[in-house]
Amino acid sequence: ATAARKSLTIGLIPADGIGKEVIPAARTAIEALGSDIPTPKFVDLIAGFETFTRTGVALPEETVEVLKNDCDCALFGSVSSPSKKVVGYSSPIVALRKILDLYANIRPVVSVSPNPNEPSKVDMIVVRENTECLYVKQEQLTVGEHGKEARATRLITERASTRIGKMAFELALARPRKHLTVIHKSNVLSVTDGLFRESIRAIPLQDTRFEAVTVAEQLVDSAVYRLFREPQIYDVMVAPNLYGDILSDAAAALVGSLGVVPSVNAGDEFVMGEPVHGSAPDIFGQGIANPVASIRSAALMLRHLGYIEAAKRIDNAVDSVLREGQLLTPDLGGTAKTREVTEAIAKRI
Ligand code: ATP
Ligand code: MG
Repeated sequence: ATAARKSLTIGLIPADGIGKEVIPAARTAIEALGSDIPTPKFVDLIAGFETFTRTGVALPEETVEVLKNDCDCALFGSVSSPSKKVVGYSSPIVALRKILDLYANIRPVVSVSPNPNEPSKVDMIVVRENTECLYVKQEQLTVGEHGKEARATRLITERASTRIGKMAFELALARPRKHLTVIHKSNVLSVTDGLFRESIRAIPLQDTRFEAVTVAEQLVDSAVYRLFREPQIYDVMVAPNLYGDILSDAAAALVGSLGVVPSVNAGDEFVMGEPVHGSAPDIFGQGIANPVASIRSAALMLRHLGYIEAAKRIDNAVDSVLREGQLLTPDLGGTAKTREVTEAIAKRI
């Protein structure tokens, strides 16, 4: 599919806060690739809390239509979450994941080693199921004999577990270590987590390519413990939505600033890069937001589309700027501006 494209149409949705500062940086990095990818065409799109306050909708119909009909992929910045519940507002990113069926959240967490020949201490990918589990948001509050009772439904399906599992196997297969850890808690939740685990166990029985991947299973509590004690044991981790949410933030803490951790939301038809951080109102407007998470999200998006060499060129340029340590934004202890870091990376690409 990648060879057939003459051009690559990329939707850009900076949304709120520092999204407006870091998405242009990702665009600059993609433009620096030159002929390594089909000629990129960028389409500017709006969404977010600011869009909501201006127009009354957080995710305009037109943004959705353009993404669906014209774009091969997209980059999303960040949305500011209102501190109080605002009537009529709901997160556009959550809606987009649903509308575009982006069922996987893929978050590589990598530390940059000081010496380019030394392996990274932390080098893993957390793959989180993005559509079900407790996040189906079916909650009820009732009053029983002893007072209030709250219940939530946890949905795990074979279909969703299998497709997230396949995505995780594919990612593991493409990596040198080819190791997959399945996260669950089926000693307690034997029905729901049991189904998640069984669905994933069945995958290599149906597709023999995946026999090359070694598989470990781990209880989520012990996974968190070992993540902090010996992160080097992990290569690819796959988890249901809630555990994956917690694990992917915990893993991000292993590599310092939120400003360096990228992600993609991926489905079978579409992929959307998204830096892990929020809109960072505390630093917005100062031109000091770290563009690395956003630039690496662009690389991850291109990798997912099959442009592996282009992705590597972006990542190598980022690694070399970080390793050199001359141009770092304040979150990494430096004094550089977003623009300076972006230019240095683009030059190396
Ligand atoms: P939101 O409600 O949008 O999530 P927040 O206040 O939680 O906003 P985050 O964006 O989640 O802010 O960031 C948490 C902290 O990390 C903030 O202090 C922010 O300045 C910092 N931070 C996040 N992203 C970056 C970045 N790209 N560069 C520098 N610092 C960042
Ligand atoms: Mg936040």
